[in-house]
Amino acid sequence: MANLGVVGAGFSGAVIARQLAEAGYAVEVFERRGHVAGNCHTWRDPETGILAHVYGPHIFHTDNARVWRYVNQYTRFEPYTNRVKAVAGGRVFSLPINLLTINQFFGKTFNPQEAAAFVAGLGDAGIVDPQSFEEQALRFIGRELYTAFFEGYTIKQWGVSPAELPASILKRLPVRFNYDDNYFAHSYQGMPHAGYTALVERLLDHPAIVLHLDAAFEREACGDYLHVFYSGPIDAWFGYTEGRLGYRTLDFEPIRGEGDFQGCAVLNYCDRDIPYTRISEHKHFAPWERHDKTLCFKEFSRYCEPSDIPYYPIRLVREKAQLSRYVEMARAERGVTFVGRLGTYRYLDMDVTIREALETVDLFLAARHLGVAM
Ligand code: UDP
Repeated sequence: MANLGVVGAGFSGAVIARQLAEAGYAVEVFERRGHVAGNCHTWRDPETGILAHVYGPHIFHTDNARVWRYVNQYTRFEPYTNRVKAVAGGRVFSLPINLLTINQFFGKTFNPQEAAAFVAGLGDAGIVDPQSFEEQALRFIGRELYTAFFEGYTIKQWGVSPAELPASILKRLPVRFNYDDNYFAHSYQGMPHAGYTALVERLLDHPAIVLHLDAAFEREACGDYLHVFYSGPIDAWFGYTEGRLGYRTLDFEPIRGEGDFQGCAVLNYCDRDIPYTRISEHKHFAPWERHDKTLCFKEFSRYCEPSDIPYYPIRLVREKAQLSRYVEMARAERGVTFVGRLGTYRYLDMDVTIREALETVDLFLAARHLGVAM
């Protein structure tokens, strides 16, 4: 059967390639970097023997049973619950904001009902339809908690005032009126036993898949393929004709040593005067392994220059029109499907990326079956 092209070997590209190969197509995958798994890439640090999340912490969590079943076909997932701590104003708190956080922060002994009523009283009821991150926070948790936990961290993370960011970013985090400190509210959560790169390698390990590493894909090569699935940056595909879409990139400063550096996997630093956003201690992402040494990454966020690796799509309210033009162009492009975080310019979790990749192939196969051009 004719060749299909897949650009990028992150979760989007790998799942699409695998599904197409399973459906009987020959697939060629082009990955610009020298490794697979995109920004989920994991690598065993030779100095400490610890499995490092090279591009920052990735914890797998989902509510989608199909996605959970799918990833479990390719690797063993170890039980893992993300419990984040945060330093704010020189004190350590539990995140996401929960009953312990509220009681410690305000020096109270509230029960769930009292805490809910108290926090409701802190919110600004005058904000009827919160649009920005800041409005969403002020509406639901009030200024004190917003300033302590979100304002400084968000300015460091995104480089702009939370007033310029969409409310959707804050909606990622729950506020709880019990002592549940699980960062995620999803039914399935875990860590791939041998890391994300091993998982993606398994996905790509199929006789009908040819993987090219360190291989850029030129748009002109499209004609050689029946269809191309593109998970690179949408603006790059169109030669940046509408300007560059804004991203944040991350810099990591490694800390190596003996023993336990901070006692947990992720410690956020919410105060603005501390230049980094968080420190991740990687051996705590794999609690089933034993290590005497330790490896941490201090994480710094900054604006992504053209030569940097893009991480977080910024999606400022004022960039909406530019993005819409790219989305229109992508829709009009025949023979190419734009997928994933970079291809659709959205802040996607791994599980959503995988669900959309599975659905993309479902749709492609249905269209082929019906003889509809894509
Ligand atoms: N956030 C914050 N303080 C924190 C943790 C998160 O202000 O201690 C905000 C910040 O704007 C961040 C967003 O909430 O970008 C989403 O947090 P999440 O932990 O989902 O970020 P990720 O792990 O994807 O970087």
